[in-house]
Amino acid sequence: MTTRVIFLGAPGCGKGTQASQLAKLLNIPHIDTGSMLREEIALQSEEGKLAESFMNQGQLAPATLVVRIIKNRLLRDDAQKGFILDGFPRSPEQAQMFEDIMSETGIVIQHVLNIEVDENILIDRMAFRKSCVCGEKYNTKFKAPKVEDVCDKCGAALTQRADDNVETAAKRIETYKKETEPLINYYTEKNLVRNVNGNQEIDKILADILSVLGVSAVK
Ligand code: AMP
Repeated sequence: MTTRVIFLGAPGCGKGTQASQLAKLLNIPHIDTGSMLREEIALQSEEGKLAESFMNQGQLAPATLVVRIIKNRLLRDDAQKGFILDGFPRSPEQAQMFEDIMSETGIVIQHVLNIEVDENILIDRMAFRKSCVCGEKYNTKFKAPKVEDVCDKCGAALTQRADDNVETAAKRIETYKKETEPLINYYTEKNLVRNVNGNQEIDKILADILSVLGVSAVK
């Protein structure tokens, strides 16, 4: 079965963690526009340079740039067996541009998964978030490493995203409400939205996601 899902939810709601775990379970790619843009920044490509100032201010990168990156990614072989889109589309304009890609390519989205989290915990989740190159994630308030800034799993130094600070996190939530939240109605009208309570333990959220999507892990 081919599973094609869009993950929606406010910044800090945990959609990156859930999308990556689900993608592993289903053996399909986790396509995360935020990470793809951060890779472009690290490479200092033209696209990265253009996106960087928007990202550091908590604003959306230009839609044409993101859509170009996404379209190329969706055409790759591994995405033909399904995918999880995390962070795209992020505005009605992008949703419209995605409709055009879908009609061109024949891609059909089956579910839009919306992770609902109380707003008062979002900023803490982002501002205290740190991660390791090995993929392990921490939160210095809720899940601190045993030794400060050192990964428990592999011993590498932890890093923090440039936009994970209180000020930019607040701006990102504002951008989400203005630009991305309207997509919940947009996709509700298409009967695609499945809501999940994101205020629970990580494993419980994942179990709920598997259940609302009606999928199970690929052995
Ligand atoms: P994320 O890793 O999903 O929190 O995204 C980090 C930042 O990357 C966002 O605050 C935006 O500046 C940018 N970004 C990620 N996805 C998109 C998108 N679909 N459209 C525009 N900007 C994006």
